[in-house]
Order: sequence, then structure tokens, then C-alpha cells
Amino acid sequence: MKILLIIADGLGDRPFESLNGKTTLEAANKPNLNRLAKEGMVGLIDPIRPGVIPGSDTSHLNYLGYDPFKYYTGRGPFEAMGTGLTLKGGDVAFRANFATVDKNGTVTDRRAGRIREGTSELAKSLNMKIEDVEVLFKEGTEHRAALVLRGQGITTDVTDNDPHAENLKPRDIVPTTKEGIKTARILNEFYKRSLLILKDHPLNKRRRTEGLREANAILYRGGGQVPTLPNFAERYSLKGGYVAAVALVSGICRLVGLRDFTPNGVTGSIDTDVRKKFSAAIEALKEVDFVIVNVKGTDIAGHDGNGIAKKEFIEKIDEAMGETIMKVRNDIVICFTGDHSTPASVKEHTSDPVPILLHYPGCRRDGVGDFDEISAKNGYLRLTGSDLMNVLLSSANRAEKYGA
Ligand code: ZN
Ligand code: ZN
Repeated sequence: MKILLIIADGLGDRPFESLNGKTTLEAANKPNLNRLAKEGMVGLIDPIRPGVIPGSDTSHLNYLGYDPFKYYTGRGPFEAMGTGLTLKGGDVAFRANFATVDKNGTVTDRRAGRIREGTSELAKSLNMKIEDVEVLFKEGTEHRAALVLRGQGITTDVTDNDPHAENLKPRDIVPTTKEGIKTARILNEFYKRSLLILKDHPLNKRRRTEGLREANAILYRGGGQVPTLPNFAERYSLKGGYVAAVALVSGICRLVGLRDFTPNGVTGSIDTDVRKKFSAAIEALKEVDFVIVNVKGTDIAGHDGNGIAKKEFIEKIDEAMGETIMKVRNDIVICFTGDHSTPASVKEHTSDPVPILLHYPGCRRDGVGDFDEISAKNGYLRLTGSDLMNVLLSSANRAEKYGA
């Protein structure tokens, strides 16, 4: 059987005041999720370990069976891959921002007015070679970007230039060990050159005349070395694909060798076309055995502290499932969960375990007909993230017996 794993990012929640003390899942009208729960089994999952607050990256890695304590090397490499850059093991990647500095070089806006247009032109102008090191620069969403260094002797043993606040100057990059001397030199040189390139870039000239904040400096932080991950298909004898519009998640999927089935036009925003994502995933299952889908709106609404929007996004997911996934539910293994909790009352990720739902033909029914954080405790499942692939493979009759 084939496997569909749906991750509603930041799904888990806590009681929310404007929802009469219910969680967003409890308050949401979600007939399809409840139906799957009734026909299948529910429970709770600790994405990493009890009490560990997951990032989206560490959690997705763990769900796919890659121990983050072994393979996670910081956000930089993962976000860089998510921008579409094809990276190699050993590359060092930083998270970067387009920022605005004044004449004295002081940062006046760390996000360059949350610039949305033209960042790809700006990014192109920042690809260069310094000494024998290749510098790759690629825009992400809004002001975000990735800076990658490729070459001999490049390490992460350097400080950041991001002052992490406005009205300060970017910091000089200094090596934290002897091995970091070359990398620090390259990064400082890159900063100097990028100021000159960006200052005279046509896009910034235009922004100047339009009274917009110029994207005239690059701040970088969080350098990490790209890890080498074992290939998903070889590891599980399973051809896999993904549907994900968020850079961080698609980067991880690509790194483990999953194929991209993300349709054009979908986004990681709350107004994205969820149905299109689900349809693409079902289409993809004709070609591969395993598809992971990420929808991000739940996490975004959670970070905004908007429990109502989060509840409505859950309803949108449910509606989209009705027109797509419910129709194939008797042919495949369906798992629906989140990669962590982002309670609207907290506006950040928490370590609260996340409700999980598992449905496949002939599966046990645990008698729980609601899918939410509270009902989930009456279900069968009690998992940590590293169990998930085993459970899915076994549900799909793809696991091998352990022992005689
Ligand atoms: Zn997440
Ligand atoms: Zn988040």
C-alpha cells in the first residue's frame, strides 16, 4: 500500500480564550477529520522527545527517520536548500537578510522594509568568487535569503555580522578558532563588496526614487555545514515525493532525495490552495509510494496569536480533504498530524505533544470519533517522531519482521 503523510504545521494547540477555552482543533468544524478518526485510530505524538521544543526542520527530519541529534547542523543549510540552491556536503550556509543601512553603515531596518519584489535580481548580482571560494547567494521569501560558501577550508567557526537589532552597525566577523580565519576573511570581504554592488543596483535606485527602503546590505547568521543524509529511497525501499511550499521543509525533503510534486501557484501562506496541494499529492502517489504534504497556515496563525484564523485554516484543510483525500481513503495509508504545537495563546512552538491520526484499510478502530488534543488521549497511539516511519511502513505492509 502507498502512504500519504499530511503535516499541518504547528497543528497542536492549548485552550484559547476567544474560543471559549477550546483548542483550535476542538473548536473547528471538521467532519472529515472526525470521520477518519472514527474509522481509524488517534493518539498523541512527541515530534522529537517529551519536553523538547521542536523546530519545523528538526521535527520533519525526525519524522522522516533522520535523527536530528545526529544530522541537524543548524537552520542555515536547511533554509538554503529550500531556496532552490543545490548544495553539496561540506558547503557552509548562512541565513541571510536583505537589510537597510544608512550613510554611516548603521542598520536602520533589518528587513529592508520587508522587501517583496526584485530580490531575485539583487541576489543574482551577489554571486561571486572570492579567492578560491565560490559564494552563492539566493533569495528566499520577502527579505530572507541564503548565503553559501563553497571551497577548501571553509568552516562554521566564525561569528555573525547580524547585530540582531536596529541602530547598530553590522558586526565584524571574527574567527572563533584558527580554522575559521579564512572563512571570516571571505565573509568580511563579501560584506564590503556587497555594499558596493547593492548601492548602485538599479533596483535600489528605483526604490530610492519611490521612497522605499533600500535593500543595500546583507546580514547573515546561523552558519551550518551541509550534512550528508542517507537517501530515503535506499533506506526504506520506497520511492518518495513531497508537496511543500515552505523553503525549510522542501529543503529537507530534497536533501533526503524526495521528488518535488509541489504544484505551481501554491504557497506556505494561510490563503493557499490546500485542495490543489492534496490533489497533487494523490496524483503523485501514482508515481511514487510515499508522499509527505506540508500545509503551513496553522503555524502562521499560531505565531500570529490568531486562534480564530487557525481554527478557520483547519476547517479549510478539512474541506479540502473532503474533495480529495476522502475519496481514496480506502486504498492508501493516511496519516494526519502536525510537526509540533504552535498554540495561539503562546505564539511560539511548544513541546506539547501533537494529535495524530492513522487510517488504513482494515485498521483497528479505537472508538474515538473526534480528532483533537483532548480526545486524542483516549486513542491507541502514543508515539515519538522517530517511531513514525516504522508505524507507517508497517501499516502499509512494507515492514520486515524483526526476528524469526
Ligand atoms: Zn513547523
Ligand atoms: Zn513555526
